[in-house]
This record gives sequence, structure tokens and C-alpha cells, in this order.
Amino acid sequence: MKTAISLRQWALGALILTLIAGLVACATSPTGRTQLKIFSSSEVAQMGAAAFAEMRDQQPLITSGPLAAYVQCVADPMIRNVGGEWEVAVFDDDQVNAFALPGNKIGIYRGLLTVAENQHQLAAVVGHEIAHVLADHGNERISTQFATQAGMELAGAVASGTAHGNQVMAALGLGAQVGVLLPFSRAQETEADIMGLQIMADAGFDPRESIDLWRNMDAAAGGGRPPDFLSTHPGPSARMRVLNANMEDAIARRERARAAGRMPDCIPPQR
Ligand SMILES: [Zn+2]
Repeated sequence: MKTAISLRQWALGALILTLIAGLVACATSPTGRTQLKIFSSSEVAQMGAAAFAEMRDQQPLITSGPLAAYVQCVADPMIRNVGGEWEVAVFDDDQVNAFALPGNKIGIYRGLLTVAENQHQLAAVVGHEIAHVLADHGNERISTQFATQAGMELAGAVASGTAHGNQVMAALGLGAQVGVLLPFSRAQETEADIMGLQIMADAGFDPRESIDLWRNMDAAAGGGRPPDFLSTHPGPSARMRVLNANMEDAIARRERARAAGRMPDCIPPQR
């Protein structure tokens, strides 16, 4: 027996497909991955800026002195190259950690400086965080969550302007507790590693030091409390493979940067 789909069922199906097609926008990331992006850059930038403001309000900051100047010194040449307005905040917390939010926001925890021993190693982390922002990983993260059941509720809340700050913060990976960061996907991490290496090298930092940074991170993990950064990132051996595979290109980029006079000289403060 033939079962005919009623006109009403067909119309409903077509309507749902149209809604999904209108909702889901696929884009291509800088390294050629397909990305799900539901929101516009400016919407996501606004969410990121609001979440960042909340983090700044609730956690002690280091806004002046040698440590703040050092972090800014390392970030500046990379920011100059990638363009745009960026905000880099140093949090007075001994977590070995860093994070990035849409809207060009970067957070560095003081504890990171116990593992990043020199300007090149700090540049490896800052470059990696800048890469998360440039590759729009925040939008992808929120969009992916919106594709889930719980996310549809959140989508409605954002659309009607009734979303709470902590709903948006959680969607951005900031967790229920302030200061607790949730991981990006493995593919996003690999992408941030590859792009981060290029970003640091283009600014004249030594990309080979990124290997030392992850080695230090690994060593720190062996002695007592593992660095928080490792809880949200692939293991050092996985990333060293990615970094080594891209090192030749990065070294050539650094040589070109140096030839163009980009030779950063940021001195870490005495610990
Ligand atoms: Zn990352």
C-alpha cells in the first residue's frame, strides 16, 4: 500500500528544513576546516566582551608594574601584525593558564609565568590564544551548543534578549564557576597550535621555544599539581608532533620577520 505524505506534513517538513538552513551557516576556518557558525561576528564579539568584563570584575587583576608591562610587551608585536583592537588582561592568580574570548580578549594568569620561562615561550601561549580568536572558535563553540537540545533554549533566550550572563558565559566555555575554563575541541586546538606558531614567528619570536614551553608544561605536570592549561588542552606529545610538522615554515617566517627588523626584546620580571 502506498502511503502518501499529506500536503500538511510536506509543508511542515519544508518549513523545518528552511528554518534549519537559515539558522545554520557553514564557514571555512583558516586551516580549511568546515565550521558551524550561527551568529554574526559582532554578536559573538559582544557576548565575549560581556563575559570578559565579568571575569575582570570578579577576579583580581595586575594592571601595572613589571609583570603587566612584560605581558603587554610580548603581546604587542603579535597584535600589531594581526590588526584590530585587543585587550590583554593579567589575572593575579597562580593558575598555570590562559584563555581567549571573542571580541579580541585574552586572559593570562600570573601562574603561567612559572612555566613560560622567556618572551618566546610566553609568545607561544599568547599566539595560540590570538589564534583561537582569529579562527572564530568561540562562535563555533556557541553554535555547536546551540545545535543541542539545551542550546535551543539558550538560542531562544538570546534571541529574545532574556539570556542571563552566566548562560552566555557557559556557552563560551567559562563554566559555572568563575575562572573554570572548558576545553575547545581537539581540531580547534590543533588549528590554534598551527596558527599560533605562525603568529609568534611573524612577530619575530623563536617558534622552536614553543616546544620547550610544552616540555616545561609536561615537567610541571609531573611534580604535584598539573598545570590547569593541560586539563583543557591535548597532551604535550600530541602538540609537539603538530608543532614539529610546522616548524620549518615557522622558522622561515621568523627569519623574514627578523630581516624586516621585528626583533622583540621583552625581559621577564624577576620572580
Ligand atoms: Zn587552546
